[in-house]
Amino acid sequence: MLRTILLGPPGAGKGTQAVRIVEKYNIPHISTGDIFRENIKNGTELGKRAKAYMDKGELVPDDLVIEIATTRLLEDDCKDGFLLDGFPRTVYQAEKLDEFLKAHDSKLDIVIDLEVGEEELMRRITGRRVCKNCGATYHVVNFPPAVEGKCDKCGGELIQRDDDNEETAKNRISVYKDQTEPLIGYYEKSGNIVHVDGSISPENTFDQIVKAVD
Ligand code: ADP
Ligand code: ZN
Repeated sequence: MLRTILLGPPGAGKGTQAVRIVEKYNIPHISTGDIFRENIKNGTELGKRAKAYMDKGELVPDDLVIEIATTRLLEDDCKDGFLLDGFPRTVYQAEKLDEFLKAHDSKLDIVIDLEVGEEELMRRITGRRVCKNCGATYHVVNFPPAVEGKCDKCGGELIQRDDDNEETAKNRISVYKDQTEPLIGYYEKSGNIVHVDGSISPENTFDQIVKAVD
């Protein structure tokens, strides 16, 4: 049983660590960004509303995100824990999440804050490539695929996320600083937060997370 939030700026490696954490602790991975991208891909109304914000690097409006996240948390597989990745992203979202958990006799066990410096964030984001087919992520320098433009796992085409261009990435980082970073103080006051170095290798970062969680 582990109820946790992964906090950190865009490019900190939340997605990479999330995959490892959910496997080790056997909990569902709830990524609001993934939910929106899935909806965009399927051309849903929700996807259309979210895309306008995402393409600019802005946040999707709180009420929409809160509705999506809490609906997901009500599903059966979240009874024994969950990993929230990319939610909450504003103090208002965090307050609403607290209210939701309280109403369901639940609470967070730990908040994991991934720390990475700004220059490294830009390098990671703009070099990131994702498989169109299975969602696996690569990096043109740090973690290139065996064959350029092709996914090692499934052979799918590798593309750059619409919001991973330099201009949008810069805006996402500044939106993070304005609206999401205050959450660190929020969770420092209310509970259990650990700060983990996200600039080292993914393996070492994961080791630190496991140590903190256990
Ligand atoms: P990142 O790599 O920036 O952490 P995500 O995949 O988590 O990216 O999110 C991509 C985009 O989806 C964000 O820039 C934002 O527009 C939208 N989004 C995702 N989660 C939230 C949230 N909790 N609140 C508002 N917008 C969100
Ligand atoms: Zn693939």
